[in-house]
Amino acid sequence: MAENNEKRSREEKVILVTGGTGLVGKAIEKVVGDDPRPDEKWVFMSSKDADLTSEAETAALFEKHQPTHVIHLAAMVGGLFKNLAYNLDFWRVNIKINDNVLNTAFKFKCRKVVSCLSTCIFPNKTTYPIDETMVHNGPPHDSNFGYSYAKRMIDVQNKAYHKQHGCQFTSVIPTNVFGPWDNFNLEDGHVLPGLMHKCRTSKKQDTPFTIWGTGSPRRQFIYSYDLARLFLWTLREYEEIDPIILSVGEEDEVSIKEAAEMVVEAFEFKGEVVYDTSKSDGQFKKTASNAKLRKYLPDFKFTPIKQAIKETVDWFEANYEIARK
Ligand code: NAP
Ligand code: GDP
Repeated sequence: MAENNEKRSREEKVILVTGGTGLVGKAIEKVVGDDPRPDEKWVFMSSKDADLTSEAETAALFEKHQPTHVIHLAAMVGGLFKNLAYNLDFWRVNIKINDNVLNTAFKFKCRKVVSCLSTCIFPNKTTYPIDETMVHNGPPHDSNFGYSYAKRMIDVQNKAYHKQHGCQFTSVIPTNVFGPWDNFNLEDGHVLPGLMHKCRTSKKQDTPFTIWGTGSPRRQFIYSYDLARLFLWTLREYEEIDPIILSVGEEDEVSIKEAAEMVVEAFEFKGEVVYDTSKSDGQFKKTASNAKLRKYLPDFKFTPIKQAIKETVDWFEANYEIARK
């Protein structure tokens, strides 16, 4: 197994993308497909190919594909309301997946692994803007502590694999992601796909469009295709073990109310908009600095949020039957 990998030419890359069928995985697949490189073979996998909570299935997957590189996206993922309900499951499932993927990548002598953290894992009580040095500075927000601690351990594992074995295992910290192939399920999903789903229904049924919480919390949103382009840069160019925040700037943070207004505009919804303040607001904000990213890529252009929301709404309309909802 590992021998096969060592024999491979240093030029040829086989890149295994765990979670390759989700929001971020599908975006990476599209961006890779738009500009394929002859020295890169990509494998996008879903939970149907292997349940990564199983060590044996993880090993069989690596045995089959012999990856030289891994983009590790697979995770139990969800918005605020799924996290509030399932903190224990988020912890257990994600710890198992991450340990299996990283240790199997180590055994197969993979040359590089890029895993995915999230800006929602940072300490709740903090100074702003948050940066990469603050991951372990204090307890995360209580709404998603299971997910957060499991994700933080990826950074611990990366450092340990590097110190003990010299592995090039690193991680990225995206802010709230949205785009085509998102999870539009109201109970499980994140805010933007949830708002899009609700607004579409309200327009069709001529009912009020309900935003959960007060609308005042603030978020930085990144379009999945922008994140995908940054993921490729990380895989190909970024050499640090320490994580890097992949986010729009602090000045691009918007309130949930402003995000909802952009969804209303994209749908050309003319009905009533109401707030259900009996629902949780979650973390008020998690404003992250992208200064480190900007040092590496000063000229990277993010898609304007209004355009990205419109494109996602158009995708949701066109793919309503197959969308996760
Ligand atoms: P997603 O759309 O829910 O996709 C999750 C992916 O993980 C799917 O491909 C799923 O496969 C796979 N998966 C889940 N459980 C698995 C298991 N036991 N074995 C194998 N595969 C499994 O999630 P996403 O939004 O693309 O998230 C990708 C990564 O970005 C995650 O690590 C997440 O924590 C991180 N992230 C997401 C956001 C966000 O706002 N969405 C923000 C920051 C960070 P199936 O489809 O076959 O089930
Ligand atoms: P978070 O960014 O990790 O907190 O997770 P979400 O993407 O689920 O965003 C949660 C924020 O959006 C909270 O302030 C919610 O009150 C607010 N929100 C408003 N409407 C919705 C909705 O339909 N779904 C979700 N998930 N959140 C909503």
